[in-house]
Amino acid sequence: MAEQEKSEIQKLKDTLFYEQKNGAKTYTAAQTKQADAYCEAYKSFLDEAKMEREAVTYAVRTAQTKGFVAFEKGKQYQPGDKVYTVNRGKAAIFAVFGTKPMAEGVRMTAAHIDSPRLDLKQSPLYEDNDIALFKTHYYGGIKKYQWTTIPLALHGVLVKKDGTVLHVRIGEDAGDPLFCVTDLLPHLAKEQMKKPMTAFDAEKLNVIIGSRPFKDDKESDLVKLNILHLLNEKYGVTEADFLSAELAMVPAFKAADIGFDRSMIGSYGHDDRVCAYTSFTALLDTDLPAYTSVCVLADKEEIGSEGSTGLQSAFLAYFIADLAKPYGLDGRDVLTASKCLSADVNAAFDPTYPEVMEKKNASFINHGVVLSKFTGHGGKYDTNDASAEFTAEVIRLLDNNDIIWHMAELGKVDEGGGGTVAKYIGDLNVDVIDVGVPVLSMHAPFELVSKIDVYETYKAFVAFFKADAQA
Ligand code: MN
Ligand code: MN
Repeated sequence: MAEQEKSEIQKLKDTLFYEQKNGAKTYTAAQTKQADAYCEAYKSFLDEAKMEREAVTYAVRTAQTKGFVAFEKGKQYQPGDKVYTVNRGKAAIFAVFGTKPMAEGVRMTAAHIDSPRLDLKQSPLYEDNDIALFKTHYYGGIKKYQWTTIPLALHGVLVKKDGTVLHVRIGEDAGDPLFCVTDLLPHLAKEQMKKPMTAFDAEKLNVIIGSRPFKDDKESDLVKLNILHLLNEKYGVTEADFLSAELAMVPAFKAADIGFDRSMIGSYGHDDRVCAYTSFTALLDTDLPAYTSVCVLADKEEIGSEGSTGLQSAFLAYFIADLAKPYGLDGRDVLTASKCLSADVNAAFDPTYPEVMEKKNASFINHGVVLSKFTGHGGKYDTNDASAEFTAEVIRLLDNNDIIWHMAELGKVDEGGGGTVAKYIGDLNVDVIDVGVPVLSMHAPFELVSKIDVYETYKAFVAFFKADAQA
């Protein structure tokens, strides 16, 4: 409708009403091409870095090619200098020094690089009725039934008696064997299917790993023996080496375009590698920021950010203190002046399950980067709640940079809920808000995101790092 034909009411509505933008409707062909191209590299990252250690290895290697060097405590860095530090191989912090004094704080993003999966138990290997299996203990919030009858790959590390660290990755290369959790055929599942989904027994998430005996003999456990013999021949490990190992079964799927229009990406672990990748590449594209720019890739978010590599650990506060000290500053003063985007995903509105969403406050695919002022659950428990001032500042920044964004919370009030690292960053007295990508089928072995949203989120992080003053 042409402008002059609009009614007075329509004009007033245009002025006064707020409506989310749908990037798929407003993107030009050139923008779509840019977003699609950006996502090709993201898909490679998804396939290469299915676990936190692999994500750290990828990020450090990539950062080194862009001039990042290992951070040295006590050194005064110059604007434009690029550093990184790694925490136990499972978390990492990358920083580009800015032109403003450190006393004015840093601009920080914090994403997590762990995803839900099936961890092997410490004594995983057993044989039952001539079949060898691994016992697992699921990691993070999963719907257990989704992890049966899908191809699985084995990732992680084994540390041998002499201390040698063995990086395991089986099921990713062409010709590799895969693994699988079985499920009951429907013909015999009459009783099983009467049970509620929550009754699915975690102790039934056993992974089949072999069925041929070492040789036909009267001895017991010959299939198990054969598996250990194969592993010993290939890696020099024995059953006792599993006791200290960190091994997990992750979906063996590769990232793939979804839809006839290829508008989406299906993959394991978009949560939260989509925000890890977009924030990390945004930092790589930041050369001489005003504020020192920091990208945090953390472990253990899926189990509550616990332990030395999760964001409840002091490693981030220690790093900021180390940044501050050469300038005669206290870490806490730098933190207090800092701002952070907690980079994590939100649940996208699913037309098949509209009943759990409240549409005015839901996130939608193709509606760009999603802001969440708070997360948590009913009654706003267990969450950071970004201040109105900081929320408005981030919105101004996104608008000034023509970034497509929307605001959402996670589902209906009292429907459930979830958390992010934001509250742990808030605990450090940093202004923080959740910013990320809407995801369909979150925490399933195969999650979906829209390419437009991935690209808008990357642009949002670039704008945040490059901002030279309060927007
Ligand atoms: Mn997450
Ligand atoms: Mn999650």
